[in-house]
Order: sequence, then structure tokens, then C-alpha cells
Amino acid sequence: MPNLEGKVALITGASSGIGAATARKLAKAGITVGIAARRLDRLEELKSDIEKDGGKAITIEMDVADVKSVETGVGHLVAEARTIDILFNNAGLMPLSDIDEFKIDEWHRMVDVNMKGLLNTTAAALPHMIAQKSGHVFNTSSIAGRKVFKGLTVYCATKHAVTAFSDGLRMEIGKKHNIRVTCIQPGAVSTELYEQISDPVARQQMEDLRTQMTFLEGDDIADTVLYALKAPTHMNMAEMFVMPTQQE
Ligand code: NDP
Repeated sequence: MPNLEGKVALITGASSGIGAATARKLAKAGITVGIAARRLDRLEELKSDIEKDGGKAITIEMDVADVKSVETGVGHLVAEARTIDILFNNAGLMPLSDIDEFKIDEWHRMVDVNMKGLLNTTAAALPHMIAQKSGHVFNTSSIAGRKVFKGLTVYCATKHAVTAFSDGLRMEIGKKHNIRVTCIQPGAVSTELYEQISDPVARQQMEDLRTQMTFLEGDDIADTVLYALKAPTHMNMAEMFVMPTQQE
């Protein structure tokens, strides 16, 4: 099992949900966590909780859709922690609506954050892993990155892009640079994700889902990340499709 003590992780979307839960678990395992998002107040609270538990956290105010902000954030983490061993590309949003509602601004935001944001952080962090010939990249795709659902069309398009990018990245940097790539594809997780849905019908549909099953928790996905990290280094958990037992 790889020794995780003293490793450095950059986690995007760390101010809530899956990212915050993963930051807590990784810090407990002895990893220094660079916690990145736009809401600095939430990151400061998380850092204080992690430090109370004896962990190490570095807050990074970062908008993944903004290349300069990403470069500055990654530079700050490397200056403080020396390198990046683990990148968790997790920031994302899901403002759902039917295509004929033409919520074009929301389509663009999903492309900018879920797809281009992930490319921006990968471009900024990967050279540090390449330089040390080791590392692990995690990308949060979704069940929506495996199949398409009506009403989630643009979100599905962005998450299919994440799945495709993950597999290509794995093939390009696994053998050449000894870097693992894991694509995580969760089903429904209980987080703040549904709160940004501006379309009342789509919002209600997602809220109704909660009454039909027990959702996963952010902690469940955090455990998945830790499981993949702890696998022997010759073993890459390339895809992890994690579903609530009752979700079809
Ligand atoms: P949350 O809404 O709780 O977390 C989303 C995170 O993304 C927040 O920390 C938010 O931080 C961050 N974020 C959003 N926009 C930006 C931006 N421009 N720059 C930097 N950070 C940003 O939801 P989840 O934890 O559920 O979402 C995490 C990932 O999991 C997403 O990629 C989502 O698509 C995916 N996912 C979620 C599922 C679910 O059912 N919840 C299922 C499958 C996948 P801030 O606003 O502070 O910037």
C-alpha cells in the first residue's frame, strides 16, 4: 500500500459536499490538503475543523473557470507544500432544465466549470506530477457521464466529456509518466448540488428522488477516493461507478 503520510492533494469544489468530505478524510490519512473553491469563508471553516483534528489544510480561493485564478492557486499550494501528489478535479454544478427553456447562460456555466475548469486545473497541476514521475488524478464524472437522461442533456454532455477525458488522460500519462487516473461516477449524493437548479420543475423532480431512495453521502465518495489511493501503485482503479443501492 502506498504511504499517504505527507502527500499533498489539491481538491477543487472543497467548500461543500463531496469535496469537503474528501478533504476531511484525506487529511485524517495524513495528507496535506489544498482546499480550493470560491467561497473562502467555507474553506476557512473547513481548515479550522481539519486542524482541530490534527490535520493540515491550505485554503485556496479559486475559480476553476478562470485560468489565471487556477494558476495563482496552484502556485500558492506548491509554494506552501512543495508539490502536488494528488489532484481531485471535483468542482461542478448542475443547473438542470429542458433544452427548450434555452437557459443558455446555465449551459455555458456548466461547460465552463464542469469541463473547461477541469482542464484548467489539470493543466496547472499535472506538470508537478510529471516532474516527480508519480501522482494520482481523480475526476468527478457522474452516472450522467455514463448514460443520458432527459432534462439533464447539457450536464450529461459535460460529464460524458469528463469520462472521455479521464480515459484518454489515463492512457497518455499512465505508462509515460507513472501517474494514475481515476474517474469517479457517483449516482445521487446528498449535497448542495440541487440547490442551484433555477427551473422549479427540474428542482422538484430532483427533490422527489430523495423520497424514493437513500442517497449516498459525501463521505461514501471520500471512502472511494481513499480506497483507490490505497491500492498498490501498479494498480489503477480507472473507473469507479458508485450508486445508491436503490437507484436504478
Ligand atoms: P456541491 O454543490 O456541494 O459542491 C460543488 C462544489 O463545486 C462547491 O464546493 C463549489 O464551491 C464548487 N464550485 C462550483 N463552481 C466553481 C467554480 N467556478 N470554481 C471553483 N469551484 C466551484 O455538490 P457536490 O459535492 O455534489 O458536487 C461535487 C461534484 O460531484 C460535481 O462535479 C458534481 O457534478 C458531481 N456529482 C454530484 C452528484 C450528486 O448527486 N450530488 C452525483 C454525481 C456527480 P464554490 O461555490 O464555493 O466555488
